[in-house]
Amino acid sequence: MSKGRILIIEDNMDNHELIRFFLERDGYDTFLAMTGSEGVQAAFKQVPDLILVDLALPLMDGWDATRHIKADPKTAHIPIVAVTARTMPLDRSRAMMAGCDEYIAKPIDFAALLRAVNRLMERAKRGQT
Ligand code: MN
Repeated sequence: MSKGRILIIEDNMDNHELIRFFLERDGYDTFLAMTGSEGVQAAFKQVPDLILVDLALPLMDGWDATRHIKADPKTAHIPIVAVTARTMPLDRSRAMMAGCDEYIAKPIDFAALLRAVNRLMERAKRGQT
């Protein structure tokens, strides 16, 4: 049985393949969007259990995509994890202000990513998001 459906918004295919590998090995189903605007559309259409968002994305950046997803009542409850090489303190605070629930720096520590994902999924199941 799937542990949940995760939308990965990521424009770099190598990163996407790695993230997907670790999440699917841990029991999650994943699907991909490659731009910020495609990510917002996928979130509205699929209403995933959790979203991983890169911040540097074409068409619409990850901060704006997060804001759009968190502004819509249909998707506002979905936990969002920023996964990003934008690791200046300002990037992190902007991500949290945009509505991200967690922030994971690249290069990705996959054990830490899975811990964050599992923790947020458990919290969402208990209705505490
Ligand atoms: Mn990117």
